[in-house]
Amino acid sequence: MRYNSTRDNQVSILSSQAVVQGLSLDGGLFVPQSFPRFTLDDIKEFSAISYNERAVRILSKFFTDFKESEIEECVNSAYNKERFETAEIAPTYKMDDNIYILELWHGPTCAFKDMALQILPHLLTKSMKKVNLDGEVVILVATSGDTGKAALEGFKDVEGTRIIVFYPHEGVSEMQKLQMVTQEGQNVCVIAVSGNFDDAQNGVKGIFIDEEYQNELKQKGFYLSSANSINWGRLAPQIVYYFSTYADLLRNEEIQLGEEINIVVPTGNFGNILAAYYAKKMGLPVAKLICASNKNNVLTDFINTGIYNKNREFFTTISPSMDILISSNLERFIYDIAERDDEKVRQYMKKLATDGTYQLEPGHFSKMQGILYGGFADDEKTLQTIKEIEEEYSYVLDTHTAVAMAVYMDYVEKTKDTKKTVIASTASPYKFNRSVLQALGEEDIEDQNEFILLEKLAKKTQTRAPKALQELEVKPVRFNQVITKDQMKEVVKNYLFNS
Ligand SMILES: *Cc1c(COP(=O)(O)O)cnc(C)c1O
Repeated sequence: MRYNSTRDNQVSILSSQAVVQGLSLDGGLFVPQSFPRFTLDDIKEFSAISYNERAVRILSKFFTDFKESEIEECVNSAYNKERFETAEIAPTYKMDDNIYILELWHGPTCAFKDMALQILPHLLTKSMKKVNLDGEVVILVATSGDTGKAALEGFKDVEGTRIIVFYPHEGVSEMQKLQMVTQEGQNVCVIAVSGNFDDAQNGVKGIFIDEEYQNELKQKGFYLSSANSINWGRLAPQIVYYFSTYADLLRNEEIQLGEEINIVVPTGNFGNILAAYYAKKMGLPVAKLICASNKNNVLTDFINTGIYNKNREFFTTISPSMDILISSNLERFIYDIAERDDEKVRQYMKKLATDGTYQLEPGHFSKMQGILYGGFADDEKTLQTIKEIEEEYSYVLDTHTAVAMAVYMDYVEKTKDTKKTVIASTASPYKFNRSVLQALGEEDIEDQNEFILLEKLAKKTQTRAPKALQELEVKPVRFNQVITKDQMKEVVKNYLFNS
């Protein structure tokens, strides 16, 4: 299997190269040349095997320059009982006869990014060897919260890697900060940058475009890389859990073999829902893909009008991981519905870069409408949904999953669709405990610290707070350096050369 760039079909590389390189030099994203197909019989077989075995079968088809035993090593290093709170890895919870919740947050950071970031480091280190890069890979991350912690947990103590995370000193929640500054591992470094997320991000970008600086690092055997969500090594593992949830529903006799289901995904960068689309392409019986946004509803408008327009106000919401105006992974979807017309994708993306907006041609627009349904929910609706669902089902949603649920309920009201539906649940409610408690009508939360809130939520919902969050209260702080953005290059060098 070879990989093309969404902006140039002449580019043709192996999966290991795609993982090491991340982004194509033409600015495009790497996509597999073709998609493997799984028959209904294959899917039926999945229902008798474990999550890890399902992952090996699916990933082997994409990483064909890996031995099957290598894929197995990657999968088993990522998804195991030291790292996930449940043996099923991504269990599906039955809410009623129509609604199923695919819980993607049983990993070490209690959010769905673990599903990809736990395995990426292993795919990456093996890929490095395959392309004959012999040295250490250094992951640089600027984070507004969740991604940094998930990347730290993924790369922690993975041989041949280091990871340096920059977070905005004034821009992450108390819990997020605690998660990062107490990070364990011999190869990790966490640094606060004074200013906001843009300052941290611009600093990291400055490093990535400085060729001279990177060459200096290379001479000492350090290769810079990022762990962001456009890397094929993050996307492919996300396809697995859609097959897995279907296989679980089948095993539990909730659906018949071949029965079509809907999938609802709370969407930001369009990675998670793209993986669901790829699963459908690969033979998973999926009817509608429902794309749920928060008040930053650029995707809702796009799906409903065919016009992508990022020139709009940016809102900070209670579902922060979906606060995004440019969904990078959408480019892979566009490439696919344009039937791999790289010239067309170049045109769309050029318009987006210069004007901040582009319009799909009618053929592409109608194709998209056949596949996706788009809707959004604002904060008020989100909070109300958390409350309603808790009252009706005694199940507590986090703020992101609640956006998905709200959009799904609207969808059912509009379409009267009665097909069974899987909702991708992307975070534990404990991770966003303040908003969740507010939704549930808890008073006296304003001035309480995070650990009191964890307890309150546990009591209120009769569930247990994830150990990984509770433990933070007693973990020693390992990192307290605060620097300015101009010091970043120097600090990276110091860390790499002197430790
Ligand atoms: C990242 C994230 C999302 C958005 O996922 P995309 O793949 O970027 O669309 C949704 N919910 C949570 C909790 C996330 O961390």
